[in-house]
Amino acid sequence: FFNSGITKEIDWRINQLKKLAACIQKYETEISEALKTDLNKHPYEAYLTEIGLVYKEIKTASKKLKKWAKPKKVKTPPFLDWARSYVYKDPYGKVLLIAPWNFPFQLLILPMVGAIAAGNTVIVKPSEFSNATTNIIAKIVKECFDERHVAVFEGGPEVSQALLKEKFDYIFFTGSSRVGKIVYEAAAKNLTPVTLELGGKCPCIIDENTHVKYTAERITWGKFVNCGQVCLAPNYLFIHQNIKDEAIAQIQKNIQKNYGKDASKSKFYGRIITDHHFERIADLIKDRSLTCGGNTDGSQKYIEPTMVEVTDLNDPIMHREIFGPVLPYYVYSNIEEVIDYINSQPKPLATYVFTKNDRLADRVFTETSSGGACQNDTVMHMVNDNMAFGGVGESGLGGYHGKFSFDAFSHQKSVYRNSFLVDFPFRYPPYKYSIGLIKRLIQYLG
Ligand code: NAD
Repeated sequence: FFNSGITKEIDWRINQLKKLAACIQKYETEISEALKTDLNKHPYEAYLTEIGLVYKEIKTASKKLKKWAKPKKVKTPPFLDWARSYVYKDPYGKVLLIAPWNFPFQLLILPMVGAIAAGNTVIVKPSEFSNATTNIIAKIVKECFDERHVAVFEGGPEVSQALLKEKFDYIFFTGSSRVGKIVYEAAAKNLTPVTLELGGKCPCIIDENTHVKYTAERITWGKFVNCGQVCLAPNYLFIHQNIKDEAIAQIQKNIQKNYGKDASKSKFYGRIITDHHFERIADLIKDRSLTCGGNTDGSQKYIEPTMVEVTDLNDPIMHREIFGPVLPYYVYSNIEEVIDYINSQPKPLATYVFTKNDRLADRVFTETSSGGACQNDTVMHMVNDNMAFGGVGESGLGGYHGKFSFDAFSHQKSVYRNSFLVDFPFRYPPYKYSIGLIKRLIQYLG
């Protein structure tokens, strides 16, 4: 199907994207209901954090695709003056997308939009844990696309493993760092290029010089939205000792404001995806003294928004990706200690710093490494598609969103187009010019 050349036609790609948008619109209510079933997502949140982002991505790609896909003329050095140089955007060919369960709709459809926009054929493998959303994705893909263009393979690791045995031209994986390594190894066997969007473990610093109310609001939202099952959620807080009591009180106040006195009764509060993850998170807080929260109900996969103080940075809770509604915090007095700690850990997906002191924020941004970062916010850098969203080191490889998605799924082919007007003989043997002449020429042109 790819070799037929049809996916290379820009108008055809735009049509496919428009068809996808129309199909999503047709099933919007079902998508929202599926997200409710899988994660107890409120429809408002489903639109805000999943469906809305997908519409925006499709709209941007459809509008800008002609410009993005056009070969870009670049300068040609003066000694090659009779030639022209271009960068062509070639689709890779057959793309494999593997997605997780936490934002099961957007984390599959967003990269799919990029892969289609760039002219590839796509196989998607949604998560086996978000079944309701996987079903509706399968329905949309089957209704919308020729299966030789986009096809869904449902199932768990065994299906991924079988797919990874096949040769793809590009693999885009979102999930844990552990499975990311398995995917990377499988891709290496065929020298297949990859994007890996991996685990979070994002540190969040609260300086003493901050707007405490807004700080608490933005952290409470970033941590407890989707019941903490967010790769970009703050994994732990570093709170300056001079602001500790006020910051903690404000965060607790916000938890109650957002989810009421009893979060289990809130229609805005999510649930943990599986029993396994419920047990894993409940174990983290078992037998600990907690600052707030701690109530759980296994039958509902419910875990209350919980805060826990950590007094030793070697505490095991600091070393895991929590991926749930548990927020550990450590009280610091010295920013060096915080920066040293962050630098001693695998590189996170994002680093957050809340401060009115721009120099301090700059210091954190330049002295630590992370996929992305925010000053005075959490999560929101991923909404701006003028910046790539992705990790570094343990948190991933490559980035996407907007034009970065198009670029991720395109090979940038350097094309040199010479003419027959002139021919310079000095590169051909037998070499009759002195080496000194060539040295001077290259020095002059360089
Ligand atoms: P996961 O790695 O367990 O699974 C992701 C996908 O890989 C699923 O489709 C699953 O079926 C497949 N898979 C699982 N085991 C496999 C194996 N052995 N071989 C091949 N494929 C396999 O991740 P998850 O639990 O679905 O999602 C949570 C993780 O994803 C967290 O670590 C989170 O930080 C990360 N995540 C990252 C981003 C990001 O953008 N960086 C976004 C969301 C989630």
